[in-house]
Amino acid sequence: MTRTNWTNRINPAVQSIPPSGIRKFFDMVTETKGVISLGVGEPDFVTPWHVRESCIYSLEKGYTMYTSNAGLLELRQVIAADLANTYNIKYNPRSQILITVGVSEALDLAMRALLCPGDEVLIPEPSYVSYAPCTVLSGGVPVFIPTGMDKDFRITADQVQKSITSRTRVLLMCYPNNPTGAIMDREELEKIAEIAVAHDLVVVSDEIYDRLTYLGQHTCLASLPGMWERTVLLNGFSKAYAMTGWRVGYAAGNPDFIDAMTKIHQYSMLCAPITGQMAALEALKNGQPGMRRMVEHYNRRRNMVVQAFQDMGLPCFEPGGAFYAFPQVSVTGLSSEQFAGELLKEEQVAVVPGNAFGQSGEGFVRVSYAASPDELSEAFRRIARFIRRRGVRPRVISASAKFSVESKEGIYQTV
Ligand code: PLP
Repeated sequence: MTRTNWTNRINPAVQSIPPSGIRKFFDMVTETKGVISLGVGEPDFVTPWHVRESCIYSLEKGYTMYTSNAGLLELRQVIAADLANTYNIKYNPRSQILITVGVSEALDLAMRALLCPGDEVLIPEPSYVSYAPCTVLSGGVPVFIPTGMDKDFRITADQVQKSITSRTRVLLMCYPNNPTGAIMDREELEKIAEIAVAHDLVVVSDEIYDRLTYLGQHTCLASLPGMWERTVLLNGFSKAYAMTGWRVGYAAGNPDFIDAMTKIHQYSMLCAPITGQMAALEALKNGQPGMRRMVEHYNRRRNMVVQAFQDMGLPCFEPGGAFYAFPQVSVTGLSSEQFAGELLKEEQVAVVPGNAFGQSGEGFVRVSYAASPDELSEAFRRIARFIRRRGVRPRVISASAKFSVESKEGIYQTV
């Protein structure tokens, strides 16, 4: 019997992409005992009870079937109303919004519907781990725009302008940013929008962290002059409403393009799960006060985390959004991977090496502060001890962070 050589059978594009640097690292984490994980980009809160309850009720009533490919019309209507209220941008829920299996699927569909072989996609770096692989799997070519701590990890219009070639088709934006927590100011976004219009670029804007913004108001790219028609707006429920496991997101944009994405979606996914869509509907209708309380908690932890890193002698810029800090660890003399690996081994604290998000993340680690204050206090005690052993002098001698106990009142259940 001849043996099948599977390596020859696998699409070279798939062979060319590495497994996620986060996954690789987390395989190590699961094998280590007593680990405090500040690695996963996931709220520590359980989905609010009213959302879970409404979903249980929908199951009791027998909502267990497919929805239309585009998703529940009522959910698309409340999303349209939410975007109109928040950003004053109007989408027709019948033709301009598609419900997807998380932002992950929306991103994949957008890239597949947009790209032809060789099309270039501009991606600010460090970048979320899926952007380059989704681009490559769709035949595109990622072109990274490096950002650094000197400019608070923001891209500039000048950088975008200089990166454009005759093959550039798409600018893929993510602010507030994963992994850095960076946000953009409106003025720079307006300049970038002008460039997008001048070069007829499509902007795919991943706004999954739009509600987790702590320094001023978030500017939605699609709301800027000339941008509605050329922006594919992606958003979802995973982060703001603590709903990662429900797998619901959406894309909003030009009806012809949403139609094209829906074609791929109907053949590959059919529809997002109805249970998740029911839950998302309740979250958007009645979940705003609870979501704002969670954001307040993240903001308090953010302030304490940044202060703690600075006190212990690790430079850390102030992230304006998401729930990540991105301290510079190169002062310890270790690379990102060495730092994360040795911290895990010696102190059982898991963080993600910055180079998992691209070359410009080297020298940094991503630390999620979507963890309980108790865990954060203990983790920072351990990190401070670890870097003191590496000869870094604390700025504040008694540097050991204390994360204030959060009132249980009005706070969601945690696991
Ligand atoms: N986009 C960014 C920037 C993310 O950080 C994540 C998850 O970490 C996703 C998309 C995926 O989100 P979803 O759970 O909606 O698929």
